[in-house]
Amino acid sequence: MQKPHSIACLYIDFDAFFANVEKQLEPDIRSHPLGITALDSEHSALITCCYIAKRAGIKRGMRVTEARAICPSLIIRVARPDVYVKIHNRIVAEVNRHVPVKKVWSIDEVECELIGQERLKAADIGRAIQEGLKRNIGPFITPSIGLAPNQFLAKVAAEMEKPSGFVLLRAEDLPGPLFKLKLSDLPGISTGMETRLNNAGVMSTEDLWNISAKHARAIWHNVEGERLWAQLHGYAVEKPPTQRRMFGHSRVLSGEFKDPRRAVDCVRLLTVKAANRLRRENYTAAAMSLSFKTQNKRRWSGETQFPACRDDHSLLAHMHRLYERGMDEARPRRLRSASVMLHKIALPSERGRDLFEDQDSQNWEKLTDLMDSFNRKEKRAVIHLGPRPIIPGGYAGAKIAFGRVPDEEDFY
Ligand SMILES: [Mg+2]
Repeated sequence: MQKPHSIACLYIDFDAFFANVEKQLEPDIRSHPLGITALDSEHSALITCCYIAKRAGIKRGMRVTEARAICPSLIIRVARPDVYVKIHNRIVAEVNRHVPVKKVWSIDEVECELIGQERLKAADIGRAIQEGLKRNIGPFITPSIGLAPNQFLAKVAAEMEKPSGFVLLRAEDLPGPLFKLKLSDLPGISTGMETRLNNAGVMSTEDLWNISAKHARAIWHNVEGERLWAQLHGYAVEKPPTQRRMFGHSRVLSGEFKDPRRAVDCVRLLTVKAANRLRRENYTAAAMSLSFKTQNKRRWSGETQFPACRDDHSLLAHMHRLYERGMDEARPRRLRSASVMLHKIALPSERGRDLFEDQDSQNWEKLTDLMDSFNRKEKRAVIHLGPRPIIPGGYAGAKIAFGRVPDEEDFY
């Protein structure tokens, strides 16, 4: 691992992207507070809003009715994903004229790697991209640009002076400007991870800077802690090749739980256990498979994919849809065993933002984190969503498989 002293990453994050695209396309609304919804309903939530609206106290996730109460002059437009995707493609083409786009992180965030001579004129390249976007995409679709020794810090830099930010974070400037950031401002630090850090005595970015890499690894329970720490310190950290990982549980059903109407409760419990382990290791999942064997030894399995998530509410909803599909297709009278697996495992920092990631799913994540930390303190599942049957044969998650010793929490 080497500590580069030059700017190796340029990160672009557009400001209030959907709102600013609408303003670019519709001159009459440019000077007005503007909110964007996914649906044409007064009860739907804002998926984003412009900076004029932000300054008036409007926040992403507010219901339209609530937002109008705070800011009566608020204009609402329903999102047009097809339009935003077209603009996104034009943006990528424009950036590519200056320096190759290394990775598209979301519809409004892209990363470029600077190599060789480019590193010496990083600021000039950044300014040229800013000018090019203004001229060829439109002056109202403003980017915030961050330049830093690695992707992590460049993303942080792009967030620092929004809107229309332009922040160059040199290795020799560290850690100064970082200390004014909250832990939750750092990419990859979820509410759950913030609580875990606080419990370990790390209350601020300064505290995180000052602990050792080894200590960070211990708090995270995995190498991600060490990687985040190293990136914070300006090291170039190559992502390890994505491991093929799965989180899942299976079990043989007995007694009344062979009845498909009761088996679903057991599958629920398997899902919750797998989700819990996923969160403990600080991952998200973007696919799930469900399989079962019927009493007459027929096997059914199905898979579903979804935007990366890690909360019980979302994962249970996906499980129930899969289960219903299985019941429809296999029409089993009795079940013999069932298994749930979470796939497409990634770190939260690798999760691209979803086009219509709603506030609801973020709230469910926060709620799940709260439930987890409470249950961890109580050392049992005191709070959980929906029914939690007593399953004969005991703990769903504590099967000792080859290669994995159960964690204490598996037994809650
Ligand atoms: Mg953005």
